[in-house]
Amino acid sequence: SEDSDSSSMSEEEIVEAEKLLTTEEKQRLSIKQQRESLPIYPYRDQLLAALRDHQVLIIVGETGSGKTTQVPQYLHEIGYTKFGKIGVTQPRRVAAMSVAARVAQEMNVKLGHEVGYSIRFEDCTSDKTVLKYMTDGMLLREFLGDPRLDGYTCLMIDEAHERTLHTDVLFGLVKDVARERKDLKLLISSATMDAEKFSDYFDGAPVFKFPGRRYPVDMFYTKQPEADYVEAAVITTLQIHVTQPRGDILVFLTGQEEIETAQEMLQQRTRGLGTKISELMICPIYSTLPSDMQAKIFEPTPPGARKVVLATNIAETSLTIDGIIYVIDCGFAKQTSYNPRTGMESLIVTPISKASANQRAGRAGRVAPGKCFRLYTAWSFQNELDDTTIPEIQRTNLGNVVLMLKSLGINDLIHFDFMDPPPAETLIRALEQLYALGALNDEGELTKLGRRMAEFPLDPMLSKCVIQSEAFKCVDQVITVCCMLSVGNSIFFRPKEKAIHADNARKNFFRPGGDHICLLNVFEQWKETNYSTQWCFENFIQVRSMKRARDIKEQLIELCKRVEIDYAEETLSVVDDEYYSNVRKAIASGFFYNTAKLQKSGNYKTLKNQHTVHIHPSSCMFEALPKWVIYHELVYTTKEYMRNIIELNPDWLLEIAPHYYKKSDIEDDDKKEKKVKMPPKGK
Ligand code: ADP
Ligand code: MG
Repeated sequence: SEDSDSSSMSEEEIVEAEKLLTTEEKQRLSIKQQRESLPIYPYRDQLLAALRDHQVLIIVGETGSGKTTQVPQYLHEIGYTKFGKIGVTQPRRVAAMSVAARVAQEMNVKLGHEVGYSIRFEDCTSDKTVLKYMTDGMLLREFLGDPRLDGYTCLMIDEAHERTLHTDVLFGLVKDVARERKDLKLLISSATMDAEKFSDYFDGAPVFKFPGRRYPVDMFYTKQPEADYVEAAVITTLQIHVTQPRGDILVFLTGQEEIETAQEMLQQRTRGLGTKISELMICPIYSTLPSDMQAKIFEPTPPGARKVVLATNIAETSLTIDGIIYVIDCGFAKQTSYNPRTGMESLIVTPISKASANQRAGRAGRVAPGKCFRLYTAWSFQNELDDTTIPEIQRTNLGNVVLMLKSLGINDLIHFDFMDPPPAETLIRALEQLYALGALNDEGELTKLGRRMAEFPLDPMLSKCVIQSEAFKCVDQVITVCCMLSVGNSIFFRPKEKAIHADNARKNFFRPGGDHICLLNVFEQWKETNYSTQWCFENFIQVRSMKRARDIKEQLIELCKRVEIDYAEETLSVVDDEYYSNVRKAIASGFFYNTAKLQKSGNYKTLKNQHTVHIHPSSCMFEALPKWVIYHELVYTTKEYMRNIIELNPDWLLEIAPHYYKKSDIEDDDKKEKKVKMPPKGK
C-alpha cells in the first residue's frame, strides 16, 4: 500500500514534499544551533553540577542569555522530571505564556502537553506536563492546595530581581519548604548583578554567575525635557527608520493606551510618506494583548523592512526580542502606589530607576553594537532617577496576600521572613480591612467566611461580593459583574474614526444604578444572542474580552460549587423589583469601604477619609451625579477618578456593614437637607 500511495503522488508533489521536509529539518537544526549559541550553553554542565551539590542556587546572567528557556530544559534532560514537575515562575502572564510556547517549540512538543503554562483563569497544562511555567501568583495559590508542593522536584523563581509582591511572598514560603524537603531543588534567577542580597536571604546559597554577551550601546539624551514623550518616541522612531542602518527598534512606553496612540501615529505618518520609505512593521506588546498578537513580536522582520516593537516594561527583562539594535526609552513606567492612611491604591506613571533604565538600554546591545535614545536629559538621569525600584511589597495593598497567608496558617505576619518587610502600617491596614469584611475575627484569625473568600482568585472585596450574593439571590449576576470587571477596561471598543458611533452604542447599555449594572447588561444581552460575534461587532464590544469574561465565569461557577455557594437556586429575574438593587447591595457588601458622597462643590469625598475624588468620564453616571456612590477602583490620571461606580442608598451601609458605619456617618451635615427623605432606590 505504501507503493500505491507514493505512486499516486505526482513528481511535482514529491519535490514539494521534500522541500517541506528539508525546511522543517532546517528549522529543527537551527533551533539546536540557536540553543547552543546562547551564552548559558557553555555553562550547562557546570550549572548542573552546582545544583547537584547545593539545594539552593542563585543564578545570575544577563537578559536573553537563556536562563528561563534553557535551564528547565537542562534539568529535564538529565532526569529531574522523572519523579515530579519543574515549576518556573514569571512575574507576568505574557512572559509565562510566551516562554512556555517557545520551550514547547524547542522541545518539539505541543504546548500544554509536556510543556505548559498556568496563569490566572487559564490553565494550559495536562497530566503530561513536566515543565510548568506560571505566574508567581499561581504558584502562591498552589500552596493552598499543596503546602509542601510535593508535585515538584525543582522550583525556579525566575526574574527575582523584579521583586513583585507575589515573588517576595514566594521567597518566604519556598525557603521554608526547602528546609523541610531536602529533595527539592530551588533556583532563584535574576538579571541583575546584585545577587548578594538573594544569597544572604537564602542562608548563604552560592551564586552562579555567568557572563553574557554585551555589545557597547551609545547613549543619546534629549537636550530639554520632553513635554510629550509619546510624540517624541514617534518622531525618534521615524528618524531612526529614515536615517539609520538596518536593525529593529524597541520603544518603551507605559501602557496600552500610549502604545495604541503611538501605533496610530506611526501608521498615519508612515502612510503619509508612502513609498518614500521602506516598510515599518509595527508590533505592540502589553499584558492584555491577545496571545495570537503577542506572537507577532517574535516573527522575523521581512527583508528590507524594519520592525518597531512598542512595549511596556514587559520587554525590559521578561521577554527578549532578537534583532533589536535601537532602544527608545520614555523613562517612565506604570507603578502601583499605595497610601495605607487613606487606603488608596493607584496605578501611576512614575519615573523608572537607573537600574531599569540600564536594563532597557542593554536591550540594544544583544546582537551588535546598539544605540539607546533616552527621552529625558542626562541631568535628569543622574539626579532624578532612584538607583533601584522600590519592591512592590512596600507600595501596594496587601489584602490579598494577607488573606492567603492566613489561610496557609501563617498567623504572625509581623515576624514573617520577608526579604524586605512591608510597612507595618500597610500590614495593619490589610488586617483591618479583612476584619471589616468579616474574613478575620477579633483575634485576627481566619473566619469561615475568610476561608471561603480565600478560595477565589479574586480581590478579597470581590470574593466577599460573590459569597454575599447568595443571600441576595443574585449569584449569577454578581459573578457576571466580577468577570466583566476582571477583564479590565477592554470591553468597549472605541476606534477614533468612529468614536461617535461607539459612544452611542455604549450609551445604549447604560442602565440606572451604575456601571456594574451596565456591564451586567452587556453580558446578558450578548448571552441572549447566543454569544454572537456579529452582535459584538455591531455594538462596539470587544468580542475577545467578552469571551474571556465568559471563560472566567465558568471557572468562578466551579469555584462556587466548591465552597458550596448555591449558584442556581432562587435566582431573581429581571422582572423582580429587587433585581438590580440586590445586585447593587451584594456589590456594596464587598465594597462598602469605597463609599463616596457628593459635595456641594460638585466633587465627591470618600466617606471615611474625606479624600476628594471624581467620577471617571467613562462612567454612565458621569452626568447623573448621584449623591452617594460606591466605586470599584481609583485611577489617577489628571485627577483622582473613581472608575466603575454604582449608586448607593446610604441606608444599605447600616444594613450591610453595621460594624463599620454608624448612623451619624450617613446623616446629612446640612440640617435643611435632612428633612428631605431619600426616595427608595432601585428603579
Ligand atoms: P533569559 O531568561 O536569560 O533572559 P531567555 O531564556 O528568556 O533568556 O531567552 C533566551 C533566548 O531565547 C533569547 O535570546 C531569544 O533569542 C530566544 N527566545 C525566547 N523567547 C522566544 C520566542 N518566544 N520566540 C523566539 N525566540 C525566543
Ligand atoms: Mg528570563
